[in-house]
Amino acid sequence: MMNTPLTIPPMLERAERYFPSKQVISRTLDDMHRLSYREIGRRTRALASVLTEFGLKRGERVGTVAWNHHRHLEAYFAAPGIGAVLHMINMRLSSDHLVYVINHAEDRILLIDEDLLPIVEAVKDQLTSVHTYIVLSDKKEVPHSTLKPLYSYEALLEKGNPNFAFLEDLDENEPAAMCYTSATTGKPKGVLYTHRGITLHSLVQGMVDTTALSENDVCMPVVPMFHVNAWGLPFSATFYGATQVLPGPQFTPQLLAELIESENVTFTGGVPTIWLGLLQVIEKGNYDLSSLRAVICGGSAAPRSMIERFEKTLNVPFFHAYGMTETSPIVSYARLKSYQHSWSEEERYQIRSKQGMAVPLIDIKGVNENGEIAWNGKEMGELLIRGPWVADHYHEDERSQEAFRNGWLHTGDVVTIDEEGAIKIVDRTKDLIKSGGEWISSVDLENAIMGHEAVLEAAVVSVPHERWQERPVACVVLKEGHVVTKEELNEYLATQFSKWWLPDDVLFMKQLPRTSVGKFLKRALREQIVGAKKES
Ligand code: AMP
Repeated sequence: MMNTPLTIPPMLERAERYFPSKQVISRTLDDMHRLSYREIGRRTRALASVLTEFGLKRGERVGTVAWNHHRHLEAYFAAPGIGAVLHMINMRLSSDHLVYVINHAEDRILLIDEDLLPIVEAVKDQLTSVHTYIVLSDKKEVPHSTLKPLYSYEALLEKGNPNFAFLEDLDENEPAAMCYTSATTGKPKGVLYTHRGITLHSLVQGMVDTTALSENDVCMPVVPMFHVNAWGLPFSATFYGATQVLPGPQFTPQLLAELIESENVTFTGGVPTIWLGLLQVIEKGNYDLSSLRAVICGGSAAPRSMIERFEKTLNVPFFHAYGMTETSPIVSYARLKSYQHSWSEEERYQIRSKQGMAVPLIDIKGVNENGEIAWNGKEMGELLIRGPWVADHYHEDERSQEAFRNGWLHTGDVVTIDEEGAIKIVDRTKDLIKSGGEWISSVDLENAIMGHEAVLEAAVVSVPHERWQERPVACVVLKEGHVVTKEELNEYLATQFSKWWLPDDVLFMKQLPRTSVGKFLKRALREQIVGAKKES
């Protein structure tokens, strides 16, 4: 067979050739844009020529500090097209971490959204590798800024070559993109994605037994383009010629609901927080969501109650998936096997709220101190993963040795795997609660609490305990206008869990602290609770 390289330029070329008139709908600060793949192709090529003119060399990094919009999409293809690496920077990182990732990746050029300039301006004196800044905006004028030299993206594109040819001698194992993990402790860790990994990951997103993304779809990635390449969706949606809807800066749940309705979005993906927000507006408002055929949820556990609300109340199919920055991200996808459709509703929702089976080409196992765990849905162990879109090291980071051993990625996620092969994430290793020598899953408790009609959000953390070593404490945000007491919540939980699982305390809060990608920041909650206990 021919050993043709699996590289990124042919993905865009396919959209240019076969779907030139299909659209990328993009919301920016000033406007809604509708660009055809023909235009996106020409603009991407012009950007590739501009980056080359700036002296960006093969293997060098170009960073983006940007929302989900068409200019970001163009950068997704332009940088890999000249053999450079696109580093998508999480704009919500602390300034320390922001400086760390830009310097550690040795970004040469930064592409920055106009409204995000202040974030970079605040740390510019600490940046050691950047020689050029480019502002992403609808305007051709360069705004006032302390970043120097600063160029206008649109002005540069006007001078670029829209027929620029991408490199033809790219090796599929060259890096094409890069993201850092949103570490809750320690410095973020850099993951490089190869052309090959991204191409194969895109193929699997098109499989009928996974997300089945296709040309028929109108795909709206809500997950940020800096969070594991927006789960790879901009690459695969372009590859398949799907219509894309990119929701741009500072979107609200209302705006997402409006976009779903007006653009007939069929496919969307994001973390549970996004869907909680959307549920609240759509249950109050009057939106037509009938176009949606798949809402993909990952990044944190999707509470079963959320899956049921989407499907039963709104008639919107909702799918639970699991992955990590280190895995591009798709590892597993929860779907019913053909013979499970006839199982009871209870069994079906149980399957659907697990994290699902590994997708083709991904290999998994669970391991604990006794060796490999049995696939019986009971034994718990750390999840190990390998596959063609799983990283095998962190970029220049000695923590690689800990995470990547004997050909497997050690995830730090504790799982059970059932007889059908479905993974259930019990907890992060460090979030599991060990009470009197027995494990309590904070995730299970959280999901159950979030099923209570008065509860909007809940996070359960372990706090040190003299007698039992650790005990669970629940932090709960109530829905507007609802009340429930600690005793009532524990009574409700007592129907589902043994008594020793029930939280020792329930703290009612206005909001829960979150990580930069919208997950509950349990470390902060734990410190808050332990600190308050010490003071009292
Ligand atoms: P990140 O690299 O930021 O995407 O975070 C990856 C981590 O998020 C995983 O190691 C899991 O702990 C968690 N995670 C991702 N998807 C899920 C899911 N569907 N259910 C539970 N945890 C998840």
